[in-house]
Amino acid sequence: MTISLKECQLMDSQDTLAGLRDLFDIPENTVYLDGNSLGVLPKATLNRVTDVVKNEWGQGLIRSWNSAGWFASPQRVGNKIAKLVGAYENELVATDSTSINLYKVLFAAIQKAKTSPYSAQHRYVLSEKSNFPTDLYIAQSLCAQFGLELKLVHWNDVQAHLNSEVAVLMLTHVNYRTGAMYDMASMTEKAHSVGALAVWDLAHSAGAVPVDLNAAQADYAVGCGYKYLNGGPGAPAFVWVNSSHANEFHQPLAGWWGHATPFQFTTQYEPAAGVSRYLCGTQAIINMSALEVGLEAFEAAQALGGMDALRKKSLALTDLFIQLVNERCTGFGLGIATPLEHSMRGSQVCLSRETGAYAIVQALIARGVIGDFRAGGASTGEPDILRFGFTPLYIGFVDVWNAVEQLKQVLETNEWQAEQFKQAHAVT
Ligand SMILES: *Cc1c(COP(=O)(O)O)cnc(C)c1O
Repeated sequence: MTISLKECQLMDSQDTLAGLRDLFDIPENTVYLDGNSLGVLPKATLNRVTDVVKNEWGQGLIRSWNSAGWFASPQRVGNKIAKLVGAYENELVATDSTSINLYKVLFAAIQKAKTSPYSAQHRYVLSEKSNFPTDLYIAQSLCAQFGLELKLVHWNDVQAHLNSEVAVLMLTHVNYRTGAMYDMASMTEKAHSVGALAVWDLAHSAGAVPVDLNAAQADYAVGCGYKYLNGGPGAPAFVWVNSSHANEFHQPLAGWWGHATPFQFTTQYEPAAGVSRYLCGTQAIINMSALEVGLEAFEAAQALGGMDALRKKSLALTDLFIQLVNERCTGFGLGIATPLEHSMRGSQVCLSRETGAYAIVQALIARGVIGDFRAGGASTGEPDILRFGFTPLYIGFVDVWNAVEQLKQVLETNEWQAEQFKQAHAVT
């Protein structure tokens, strides 16, 4: 049985989360399927940022570090993110970028691994080769520093390579290219069973899928503020550390914001208690305030079933997209690169195509359907990808219908073969 536009309209009318879309400013005639790369603008952000700039900065000036809560914002915003990822109060801070936070936690994990009974055997940081490049680059730099090797295996083969030579397992929970999701609890357990520590990157998970860091007994985690959390370009990222390790670590980026008593201005670094020692220097307060507004949408969603309800809708959206592509876009060389199994799927769907993926994405963008292109290539052995993110806070079922309709037209008319769609931009 094929799905009709009418049925998609019915799904929207029955969607109890549909009203959340009103919290966001989404351009007209746009189907935005790239919230996994840069989330949309919450309506309240403009006023909030204006207030921060005009009043807190302009009038409050330096007093605002105290009176406007600027100084405590990494912890305050961190506690709001904590609720989305199964972290307890005061275990998570919002700060810096994902790349920088990964550097800190991977450093901490490698240091901690030295105290393991297996440390004499340790040779590797283990990850998978289609992990996001910045994660791999950060790991390469730390491995070089610590005399370890970064071992990269296929996404499916990680477990088979977990043994006592692995100091740290470093994985991204939901793969940025394919949307494939690991079972965090079971991978972490496997890592622990060979004496390895588990570092998780939640860039494509936080706000997209339910995450329970403490239930999974993960060791360290980082994540992104500008994707599903809608914090705006360059929003602070976050860092979480299992409370059993949080006091054990000396910052590789020891700065005064991570100091126990920064305003004593002592000559000697002394780390703050707990996760606050993962701070380094002064925060980007304007961006931080935008991130805090982004998190309000999740507070609104809480009353409607929270992450579980969002997950249910996300799966319904990605199921619908997959089904419509299968029904309406056959014969054009598209493959589905995202797992069909719900337990292995994040909140995005990726289509593979041997050639033309970039141009097809450009032609879709010209029609107002915004997804993105991710290159495959020789170094990964992966195909080129057309990537579509489905943010359940603001994407509806008719959006999915419209996206597939436009994709069908782009393919049927061969419009994507026009010269203008082949020009490569710096950011794809
Ligand atoms: C988006 C993303 C990042 C981004 O890192 P930045 O430091 O913000 O540039 C890192 N890792 C993964 C897995 C991502 O998806």
